[in-house]
Amino acid sequence: MSQKTGEKLISVFIDDEEVRVPPGTNMIEAAASFGKEIPHYCYHPKLTVAGNCRMCLVELGMPGRDRATGEPLLDEGGNPKIMWMPGPAIACGTNAAPGMHIKTESDVVKKCRNGVMEFLLINHPLDCPICDQAGECHLQEYATDYGRGYSRFIEEKVVKPKRTRLGPRVMLDDERCILCSRCIRFCNEIVEDEVLGFIDRGSHSTLTCFPGRQLENNYSLNTVDICPVGALTSMDFRFKMRVWFLSETPSICTESSVGVNTLVGSREGKIYRITPRRNDEVNDTWMSDSGRLLYRELEKADRLTQYSIDGKATLPDGAAKEAADIMRKGKCAFVGSGRSSLEEQFLLQKIRRACGNGPAWLVGRTGAEDELLISADRNPNLRGALVSGLIDRLPQARLTELSEQIDADAVDTIVVWGEDLLEAGLTEEQLEKVTIVYCGYRDNATAAHAKVGIPGLSVFENRGCFINQQFRLQSFLAAVPGPEGVLPDVALLVRILNELDGEGVRPRIESIWQLMSDEIESLKWMTFAGIPEGGQLISCEAFKDLPFIEGKSLHYDPEEALAAAGG
Ligand code: SF4
Repeated sequence: MSQKTGEKLISVFIDDEEVRVPPGTNMIEAAASFGKEIPHYCYHPKLTVAGNCRMCLVELGMPGRDRATGEPLLDEGGNPKIMWMPGPAIACGTNAAPGMHIKTESDVVKKCRNGVMEFLLINHPLDCPICDQAGECHLQEYATDYGRGYSRFIEEKVVKPKRTRLGPRVMLDDERCILCSRCIRFCNEIVEDEVLGFIDRGSHSTLTCFPGRQLENNYSLNTVDICPVGALTSMDFRFKMRVWFLSETPSICTESSVGVNTLVGSREGKIYRITPRRNDEVNDTWMSDSGRLLYRELEKADRLTQYSIDGKATLPDGAAKEAADIMRKGKCAFVGSGRSSLEEQFLLQKIRRACGNGPAWLVGRTGAEDELLISADRNPNLRGALVSGLIDRLPQARLTELSEQIDADAVDTIVVWGEDLLEAGLTEEQLEKVTIVYCGYRDNATAAHAKVGIPGLSVFENRGCFINQQFRLQSFLAAVPGPEGVLPDVALLVRILNELDGEGVRPRIESIWQLMSDEIESLKWMTFAGIPEGGQLISCEAFKDLPFIEGKSLHYDPEEALAAAGG
């Protein structure tokens, strides 16, 4: 529930406590804003109201009025007389109106919840100990809170299919489905992929895909997140780890410049799943399937774990000193990455200034935009490179200018952070011709040609910030430790910077933020710890008219995006 600027609030009364909410607020949300949970299954804040589970039944009353005169009716104490509806009402389908009263804890309400739970559990299998949803199952939680604790049902339960593949990533256990229709509404309303529906009636109702179709859109795993029970499970995660063992770390998806907010679930240094984190300004409660699987990158074998000079192992300080010596002497060019954090880009920019202000490029990535949560700009932090001052030109997928400068002997040293120069269009001969300082977590072709090799950390092992397409600054934390002995990229950048200009910058993110807030106007007075959970919009005036992709402004315009999406 969010209040628009200047919107008038109205008073509603929840269990006799006055709550001020915008008119029309759904009563589940109104109660939640006041710290009170009204149990529900089918209601979801980002989907239309279905009102089919009946778990959110409450008693509802309105101040009475005299039918003849229209005057408010008053009780003996002179207070408005509340006319209670004869039967309970669903809170999800009830919008706040001035003076509305609801009771969420009365005997009638408790009896309703008790009855709904009894019906829901009639055919539900008693398999919580082996159910993958255990630990985050609303049915389990509400059965404990509102169930009667035993079953009066002595007849045979309806048995339904187990392990039905709905698509390449989602498995259905029919017996556990409580027919809330959240998954159906998600596909219809958010992805506009009408693929799921119910067949048959009563206890035999079953969720299924339409004939000849399967649940394979790139947002299919959101149905697993919103399924309130263990009916839908992710084939990537099911039975791999109990959820109560997972630590959840806030992170940002690097798939594109949308900057989807995520939670990385890990245990003992291993990532098991990535789920969306709610941010109404960025991704609501959704994320793409492809973004969820990015953690598999870490499982690839081509990891750079050794600091090296000429291919021989060295210590971080040795690598930093050698890198600084090379940069001091050479005609340096810099290649940054739209996947590096703002802090890394800022430090690389300072290094660039400290050794002659050589040219800098960013390797840009583009792809098809899906009008949901994947943008055509596939760089999570292109805007960080602009804000930090690392680049003053648009990114290039192919580094043609750099290629020409190498051929013209205008550049003999390349400092490359997190990219592969061969992939970016340079040739083996050109890599042979120049001296390379490489930092990255991949042991790629550029690393093989590097004079100085510096292992880097992935976004899952690092902390820092990205600036998304809205120019929203968002922070992420390290979910798992990096390989043994590998320092954060900023620690190496600071070492190189201190070798070059002797500034004595401390390799702490807070110290780097102190410098950034001093030097970058749009980050003035900001600190890393002070970045709000949902991120913070920063000024983008300087870059507003810079085109990024043909016909598209670098600045994300929500109204333009809405119009493009037909909203
Ligand atoms: Fe609801 Fe889950 Fe059944 Fe879909 S599978 S209708 S989300 S209970």
